[in-house]
Amino acid sequence: MTSEQRDQLTFDDPTTRHPDITPPEQDQPKPGLDAELEPRSDRGETSYRGTGRLEGRKALVTGGDSGIGGAVAIAFAREGADVAINYLPDEEEDAARIAELVEAAGRRCVRIPADVRDREACDLVVAEAVEGLGGLDVLVVNAGRQVAQESIEDITDEQFDDTVRTNIYAMFWTCRAAVKHLPAGSSIILSSSIQAYSPSETLLDYAMTKAAMNNFGKGLAKQLAPKGVRVNIVAPGPIWTPLQVVDGQPKEDLPEFGKGQPLGRAGQPVELAPAYVFLASSESSYVVGETLNVNGGADSP
Ligand code: NAD
Ligand code: MG
Repeated sequence: MTSEQRDQLTFDDPTTRHPDITPPEQDQPKPGLDAELEPRSDRGETSYRGTGRLEGRKALVTGGDSGIGGAVAIAFAREGADVAINYLPDEEEDAARIAELVEAAGRRCVRIPADVRDREACDLVVAEAVEGLGGLDVLVVNAGRQVAQESIEDITDEQFDDTVRTNIYAMFWTCRAAVKHLPAGSSIILSSSIQAYSPSETLLDYAMTKAAMNNFGKGLAKQLAPKGVRVNIVAPGPIWTPLQVVDGQPKEDLPEFGKGQPLGRAGQPVELAPAYVFLASSESSYVVGETLNVNGGADSP
């Protein structure tokens, strides 16, 4: 089978479906670009095949320029959704590439550069998405910040504040602004992490925000279920994205990234996309407040 014929439904061995990568030690300035990741990641550019599961839907994906969010934006578009992506102004190069792929699928892409560490920015991101898409029925809260530190004493107040603002405050502000726009049938999906239950000693501030996301998602799910809006969570394991090379891991750990999972390799962003498609689509109508772990086989509650 040629690479052109492979898609997410191809029957094959998950241990070898994607290469067992050994990334060289590398460092990018924050927020980091997929365009400069070594080796490049797979966001489904050549492989994700849509089957009409999100026909006519209107989705906002924060952090939709790269990594997992980029793969989700591509998949959503190929499933028939128009997509708004939010990202930082420094990520315009990655965002332009995702927009190109969304538009190549025949869908609209609304680009919204904005720093979500600020409430007004979150309000604006939602307002611009609603205006640009003509409504909203999928919200993926995926923007995230992760900076590894060997010691608690190395975590500055500034880092702690940035992590909590990006991962928790922005989630709250974005969801709060979006709720009034979401008709029955809509989905909210939060990008949490395996770190929520299995915190690394180097990710104290990050891991606790992901635990908070799991908790918030389950509570909000109960609140919105009677209105017909479903909230669910995706908890990825080690996925090869720019987040890892902007101090997301200690640099010397990068060559071993993901090798300790039962599948023996790191995940690629494209392997996350089907989980988000499933949770966004009406086929998951009875799935509410669930955390879907996509982690290569690690323990989860
Ligand atoms: P990524 O760097 O490609 O995506 C993160 C995105 O967050 C960036 O592209 C950026 O646009 C956005 N962002 C960060 N700070 C922002 C800010 N202040 N304002 C606006 N946008 C901001 O990396 P990724 O790994 O795809 O991360 C996506 C999500 O997945 C994150 O929430 C991350 O915590 C989560 N996650 C990743 C992994 C992994 O191994 N890569 C594992 C578990 C969870
Ligand atoms: Mg990015």
